[in-house]
Amino acid sequence: MMRAMRFSDSPKTCRACGVEKPRGEFYAHSDMADGLKGECKECTKARTKARYFADHEANKEYHRQRYASGAKPPQVVSKEKRREYNASKYQRNREKILAGVKKYQSENRAAANARKKAYKETKRGATPKWLTDHDKLVIEQKYLLAGIHGWVTGMKWHVDHVIPLRGATVSGLHVSDNLQVILAEENLTKSNRF
Ligand SMILES: [Zn+2]
Repeated sequence: MMRAMRFSDSPKTCRACGVEKPRGEFYAHSDMADGLKGECKECTKARTKARYFADHEANKEYHRQRYASGAKPPQVVSKEKRREYNASKYQRNREKILAGVKKYQSENRAAANARKKAYKETKRGATPKWLTDHDKLVIEQKYLLAGIHGWVTGMKWHVDHVIPLRGATVSGLHVSDNLQVILAEENLTKSNRF
């Protein structure tokens, strides 16, 4: 009498080379119904290798054509050399660079001021009328705390609105429960979840 073969023992035909091979000759693949890749290990390795060499050849060809068209080969420069070069370039162009920075700042000061003003107005709009003097004092203390944290740690701290005043879905209030004192870095990298 023939003993029924368990499913996991039955050999499998490779999709690529068409050879029937034991299941151990196939890599696992959770997306496949039988949990194995359709092509055998040997074919997978061969394909990976072929792609690697094709990429390598393509890369070589790209550089060969660049040099043929007269482009300079990339230079390997030491960090010190690079620093020296940058420093002397800065010295030569100092006036021009500083003038450029000044120009940028003056052109952007108006925009920055407008942003600040808009934020102030948002904050005012988000401050409930029902806040008591004590509530306001508690809010002020959070800002004071941020200042003290900065003084003690030498780092910049922000008073952050846990739920932003201008959230995409909900907007928070300018109340002490919605305020937290956090490191400025943390504040700037915080993603807007609201
Ligand atoms: Zn194969």
